[in-house]
Amino acid sequence: MRTIRSPKKMSQAVRELVAAGKTLALVPTMGALHEGHLALVDRARKSADVTLASIFVNPTQFGPGEDYLNYPRDNRRDLALLRERGVDIVFLPQVKDIYPEGFETYVSVEKMTQTLEGASRPGHFRGVTTVVAKLLNITRPDVVIFGQKDYQQALTLRRMCLDLAYPVKFIIAPTVRERDGLAMSSRNQYFSPEQRAEAVCLIIGLRAARKAFKAGETSVRAIGELIRSEAKTVCPTVKFEYVAVTDFETFAPLKALKKGAMISLAARVHGVRLIDNLRL
Ligand code: AMP
Repeated sequence: MRTIRSPKKMSQAVRELVAAGKTLALVPTMGALHEGHLALVDRARKSADVTLASIFVNPTQFGPGEDYLNYPRDNRRDLALLRERGVDIVFLPQVKDIYPEGFETYVSVEKMTQTLEGASRPGHFRGVTTVVAKLLNITRPDVVIFGQKDYQQALTLRRMCLDLAYPVKFIIAPTVRERDGLAMSSRNQYFSPEQRAEAVCLIIGLRAARKAFKAGETSVRAIGELIRSEAKTVCPTVKFEYVAVTDFETFAPLKALKKGAMISLAARVHGVRLIDNLRL
């Protein structure tokens, strides 16, 4: 496994691989890797000749007061995991290489970033689309893979790739969960064991919603209330930011539940902001 830090060297390595007729798959990450990230790596290995992963904690996608400085970082551990999983090249740029002095060019997807995560975290998606556009420009992959866990992010980036004609196959891979159902997340590290046990409240709420839908419930409001009350039985202090029902493909808000619809939510569990979703 090669580790490359400079964007120029990364682009050079890509040119050589392309000249040798190789196809490339990219998995962008912010490190603090877990099985969710590694499942994307597995998918990448099946999708192209060469597997590339990037690790970059992107400052522009964190708002003021968010956890940019405290975000878990452990490159040694991450590199060992990626090597073990068969990654060929890790791109590990520094902030000054991605955002050179005087940086002032951003990429924004306009409409679909206004709601849910975009409304809760102003500027977040502009940071995400900008860094991913840049990673795609540097690595020019044939395939890029994101997780459904960050569903609005995945749809936003897919929109960007379409709109800006990135010649890349865009894959959205399923959410990997812990044994009890909690969606794997780098932020789960922030919990004490007692808090961690209660973090399962979100998927418990979502699964109750799916059960109610199967039993005939179609009201968006009722399902939102059910999710909140079920979650509170496990974690009485959970604070929801939103529960939303959207069309899975178009992200349009739905007035009634239907098969294939997406339920997304964000909540603070013991002060840690988590998101999760479930498709009906
Ligand atoms: P992050 O390092 O949190 O920016 O995530 C990097 C990529 O991993 C994104 O495409 C995420 O959607 C994806 N990801 C994070 N957690 C999971 C998970 N539990 N299952 C599947 N993909 C995930």
